[in-house]
Amino acid sequence: MKKKDTKKSGLTYERKNFWKEADSEQISAAMEFAEAYKKFLDAARTVRETIDFTTALLENHKFTALPAKKGQKRVFSVFRNKTMAIAILGKKPISEGFNMVAAHVDAPRVDLKQNPLYEDSSSSLACMKTHYYGGIKKYQWVSTPLALHGIIFKKDGTAVNISIGDKDDDPVFIIPDLLPHLARKEQYAKNLADAVDASKMNLVFSGMVEPGTEEKEAAKGYALKLLNDAYGITEADFLSAELELIPATKARDAGLDRSMVVGYGQDDRICAYTGLMALLDNMDKTPERTVIAYFSDKEEVGSMGNTGAHSIFIQDFVAQIMKQNGESNDSVNLRKAFMNAQILSADVTAAIDPNYPGVHEKQNAVIFNCGVGIAKFTGSGGKSGCNDANAEFTAKVIRIFNDAGVYWQMGELGKPDEGGGGTIAYILANLGAEVIDCGTALMGMHSLYELCSKADLYSTYRAYKAFLESK
Ligand code: MN
Ligand code: MN
Repeated sequence: MKKKDTKKSGLTYERKNFWKEADSEQISAAMEFAEAYKKFLDAARTVRETIDFTTALLENHKFTALPAKKGQKRVFSVFRNKTMAIAILGKKPISEGFNMVAAHVDAPRVDLKQNPLYEDSSSSLACMKTHYYGGIKKYQWVSTPLALHGIIFKKDGTAVNISIGDKDDDPVFIIPDLLPHLARKEQYAKNLADAVDASKMNLVFSGMVEPGTEEKEAAKGYALKLLNDAYGITEADFLSAELELIPATKARDAGLDRSMVVGYGQDDRICAYTGLMALLDNMDKTPERTVIAYFSDKEEVGSMGNTGAHSIFIQDFVAQIMKQNGESNDSVNLRKAFMNAQILSADVTAAIDPNYPGVHEKQNAVIFNCGVGIAKFTGSGGKSGCNDANAEFTAKVIRIFNDAGVYWQMGELGKPDEGGGGTIAYILANLGAEVIDCGTALMGMHSLYELCSKADLYSTYRAYKAFLESK
C-alpha cells in the first residue's frame, strides 16, 4: 500500500512559502513594495524624522491635522513631535469600534549624554560621552560607522536639526573598539554583556586644534568652534539637546536573489510603514469601520512618558475623531469605542536564525518567507507580562487573512525559558480592545543590520490592509 500523503488530505496545518506559492504578479509587487520601503528607512531614521516624514506624506494626500473642519474624514494628530495617529473615518459610529494598527517608531540607539563633550587627556582627542537607549548588544556599536542625528535648542529657543553622517560625502563617527592584541584582560576575560562597558562607549568626535594654539584642551575648543561656526551653538546648548548615534548605513537589498532587506530601525518602522501604506489604500473610499494607524514612542524603554503608549494621547485622539465624526465623546462613549475596537499590535517578531535555531521551538516559531507572524502572546517565562489574545479574536484575524489570501504564520518569540520580550499589546488591551500581536519577523533584531524577507514585508502590508478593511 502506498503511504498516505497527509499533506494533501486537508487535515494538516502547513504554512505556505510565499516564493513557492505566489504568482509572478504578487512576486513583482513584493519586490516593488520593498523599493519604496528602503527609501522610507533611509528618510525616517529617528523618531522625529519618522513623524516628520509621515506628516509630509499625509499632507500630500490631503489629510488634515486635528482639529479639522467639519466633514473632513482624513485626519491625523502629532503630539510632541514624537507620536502620532492617523484616521480615516468610516461609515459606522466610532463608538461601535474601530480597526487600528499600532506600531512604535522608536528603535534602539546610542544617545549622547546631556553634557557629552570632553577632551580626553590621554589621547588629546575631543570625545563625546554616550548613554545607550533600549536593548542593545553594546559590542555591536563599536568600530562601526555612526551618524549623528537630533535636535538642539539654542538660548533664544530656536531649534537646530542635526544630521551628520548619512550623505556620501559626510564624515561619520566611530566608537573605537579595543584591538584584539590588547584585549585579553579588558574584554576576553569578561562575559559578552560586560566586555564593552557603557563607560567605554565614548565617541571620537574630532582631533584637530587651532594652528599655533596655546589653549588648554585645544581639541575640545576647536570642536566647539566648528560647532559654533556651523550651527551657532555653544557647549551649554548640549544640556537640553536630544542627539543620537545611529548606524551610518543605508537600507539595502540582501542576498544573491535580493529577496531580503537589511537596514537599521526595522523594529518597528517596518510595521509603521506597512500600516501606513495599508491605511493610505483606504484613502479614496469610506471604510465600514473607522481605520486608525498609531505610531507610539518609547516602546523600547517601557512605553512610559507622554509620548509612550501608556500616555493619554491615543485615548485623546479617539475622543477627538469622535467629535470630528459628530458623535458624543463623553467618557462612556469613549470607553465603548475602545471596548469595541480591534487592534493589531504591529510589532516585529524573531525569525529562526540559521546560526541559533536552538532558541526557538521550530513548530511554534516564525520563519522567513512564510508571511506575517501572528503571536497570540509575548512576554517571558510563563507568559509573564503578556497580552494573551482571546481565541475568538485570534480566529477572527486568521479568517480575515485567509479570506484575503494573506500569507501568515503563527509563532511565539522563542522558547519559553530562553528569554522573551513584550510589545504595546497589553497596554491597548487594558482599555478593553481586542488586541493581538502581528508583525514581520526579523533576524538580528535590535542590531545595526536587521534583516527581513521581502515576502514577509509585503505580506505584512497585505495583512494590515485586510485587517483595517475588515468589518
Ligand atoms: Mn518592537
Ligand atoms: Mn524592540
